[in-house]
Amino acid sequence: MAYSYEAPVSQSLFDRASAVTPGGVNSPVRAFRAVGGTPRFMVSGTGPYLTDADGREYVDLVCSWGPMILGHSHPEVIAAVQEAVSRGTSFGTPGEGEVALAEEIVARIEPVEQVRLVSSGTEATMSAIRLARGFTGRAKVVKFAGCYHGHVDALLAAAGSGVATFGLPDTPGVTGATAGDTVVLPYNDLDAVRAVFAAHPGEIACVITEASPGNMGVVPPADGFNAGLKELCAANGALYISDEVMTGFRTSKAGWYGVDGVRPDLMTFGKVMGGGFPAAAFGGRGDVMAHLAPAGPVYQAGTLSGNPVATAAGLAQLRLLDDAAYAKIDAVSAELRSLVGDALTKEGVAHTVSAASNMFSVFFTDRPVRNYDDAKKQDVFRFTAFFHSMLEQGVYLPPSAFESWFVSTAHDERAIERIAAALPAAARAASEATA
Ligand code: PLP
Repeated sequence: MAYSYEAPVSQSLFDRASAVTPGGVNSPVRAFRAVGGTPRFMVSGTGPYLTDADGREYVDLVCSWGPMILGHSHPEVIAAVQEAVSRGTSFGTPGEGEVALAEEIVARIEPVEQVRLVSSGTEATMSAIRLARGFTGRAKVVKFAGCYHGHVDALLAAAGSGVATFGLPDTPGVTGATAGDTVVLPYNDLDAVRAVFAAHPGEIACVITEASPGNMGVVPPADGFNAGLKELCAANGALYISDEVMTGFRTSKAGWYGVDGVRPDLMTFGKVMGGGFPAAAFGGRGDVMAHLAPAGPVYQAGTLSGNPVATAAGLAQLRLLDDAAYAKIDAVSAELRSLVGDALTKEGVAHTVSAASNMFSVFFTDRPVRNYDDAKKQDVFRFTAFFHSMLEQGVYLPPSAFESWFVSTAHDERAIERIAAALPAAARAASEATA
């Protein structure tokens, strides 16, 4: 596909990057391989806008893949970071900031009695699984196809996100022994979970699921699915781990737990809680967390865990996320969903706008999408055309059909009008696209 617009500075930066970094990026989806064209190198962000190295401004619907829920460069977050930096950047000792952030998480999310801070969502899920195995003395982990839990070896089987984008069923480098303890089931299929517990009595340490998946596009849990998982885990002596790295502090004040109220044994967090810095966490039942070193025997550690700058940013962001903020984000999301749906309908493009609270994505199919197989049946080529038309008109969407779109409190009427103005041409491009 040829693109009618160019980004010469981004292209020259991408050429430099490709010489020194595999594929020119530090996280695969950023390379635009799923959609083609030149990845935009961003130089600054303010509110709902990003500016690239060629000086073009975009309305941002990626929000750094979720963290920037208050928009870019929020003055109170920046002030908290500046204040923290002025006192030093890392001490490798306990500090008050990490206590305050842990207290904020525990106060917001009732099933979290104790929490351990880490630096990425990947670390959080990796550590939660180790803890579940250490606590139960069992090896097997159940996950769902299309759910992404970071690039943890044991969890990369049939993952979503970048793995979905590249269509890799698995990745070289993960040994058979590691993958052999992972059981992958279709999402939203409780019978499959029942069958696996029956086939492996006393062997399953945990079931891990995205609280509401956003990494195969947005595919919410069917009514009763999470509650059913919790019940099956409890009946079989396994732990129920809810991965809220994406949904946590986004889909409500208490994340997806605040939406469905199903009480996990362990939970994982990241993205929003770091305020744009590398901060993540896992936590849950006190008796389970008590097995973690130094309180217990399951080892887990991190040089930069609870970093004072990251915790200051995260805490400042969380404290600004009150009921009014969530009401605003929900309203922006609802308005955009209806604008996108109307534009595609007008052009006769088969589509489904799928939402989970304020997270949403567009599947280019009108068949129901309940799992990863359904998501893969969409007309991805239509998304590609839609994406490039939006990009050309100054709207930055996730460069993959298998990712959630994210909005922030900073998406004001002006930003929404810019998106609305871009939609008719993008919908037309999607309708005219050919496979
Ligand atoms: N879990 C979920 C649900 C995610 O969406 C992600 C990242 O997108 C991760 C875990 C991994 O987080 P990180 O990229 O911070 O390692």
